Amino acid sequence: MKGRFIQSNNRRMRRRTRRLWYLGGMAFFLFSVIAVIGISYDTPSKTAPQIPAPPEAFSAIDSGEILPGTQKNANMTDTENPWYFTLVNKWNPIPENYELNLVELAGGERIDQRIYEPLSQMLEAAMESNWNQLPIVVSGYRTKERQQELYDEKVAQYRRQGYSENRAKTMAEQWVAVPGYSEHQLGFAVDINGATYDLYLWLQENSYKYGFIFRYPGNKTEITGTAEEVWHYRYVGVEAASEIYERGICLEEYLEEHDRE
Ligand SMILES: [Zn+2]
Repeated sequence: MKGRFIQSNNRRMRRRTRRLWYLGGMAFFLFSVIAVIGISYDTPSKTAPQIPAPPEAFSAIDSGEILPGTQKNANMTDTENPWYFTLVNKWNPIPENYELNLVELAGGERIDQRIYEPLSQMLEAAMESNWNQLPIVVSGYRTKERQQELYDEKVAQYRRQGYSENRAKTMAEQWVAVPGYSEHQLGFAVDINGATYDLYLWLQENSYKYGFIFRYPGNKTEITGTAEEVWHYRYVGVEAASEIYERGICLEEYLEEHDRE
């Protein structure tokens, strides 16, 4: 009797173990499906254009050609107000006669030559969080004309959804700056595309080491005037970037405190 009892108990145990394995397997399968769906929804699609460029697009730019007609910014030697503190937001247009220093990246985007080194270093370091792929700059410098196109497209999109002209403009301006008021016209702000959302978490924690800031955090929208954009990074130099990161402030707050506006 005793032996039989133990035997059936063991059988019951085995059955229970099998059931647990089965449930565990199902749970793992569901989790994997959710994870895969989650990742495919994570990439920014609001304004950052999705350009499937090869991952080596950025590393291929060894020596970007300096475009003719570019000169050093007059502000470059001004230690109080270096070029990288130029504030452009919806209340501050790009300064008149702003001079550009552009180099072209392999993917065709152009950036200020002075951020070429720190940007390359940051993107190479970011590979560890991006499935070992080099993140891609999908939008660097924009001409006023290009900014106008993007703005018009966004307004038209809201118009098609049935919003009035004024409402469509207000809504578009949450995402696309009015021409003349975009940081992209400075040449040292970039939109970065990654293979996985982890890239953006990595950038938020590490970009300051290279002098870049997460320019539009969601909790600063009222001050920056722009909705959260995880892909948009802007150069401010390592010192300012470190302070902005450590204190969790935005560029507008930093510049006001340091009286650099
Ligand atoms: Zn941007």
